[in-house]
Amino acid sequence: MTFERKFVVGLEDIASISLECTSCHRRMTFGPDDRVPVPHNGPCGHEWIPHAVPGAVSVNSMESPLGIFLRVVERIRAISATNPYGVRILLEYPDPS
Ligand SMILES: [Zn+2]
Repeated sequence: MTFERKFVVGLEDIASISLECTSCHRRMTFGPDDRVPVPHNGPCGHEWIPHAVPGAVSVNSMESPLGIFLRVVERIRAISATNPYGVRILLEYPDPS
C-alpha cells in the first residue's frame, strides 16, 4: 500500500514570499500584499533577472487576473526548468500542524 501526503493551500494562506539567490542563497523576503519591484540584481550583487528576459509574457489588460496568474506561473516554471534566472521564488505558508 502506498500513502501519499499532500498539503493544499490557498493564495490567502501565503505568509511571505522570498526571492533566494541561486549563487549565494541570500534572500529578500516580503509580504504577499507588498508591491515590491523585483530587482535585476539581488542585494548580494548577483544578477537575478536578466535585462532581456526570455519568455516575457505580455499582459492583456482585459484578461482576468486569474488568467494572467495561471499563464505567468506556467511561464516561470518553464523558464526555471532551464534556469536562466539567478533567483528562486519561495512561498512560505504557516505550519499546518
Ligand atoms: Zn547572491
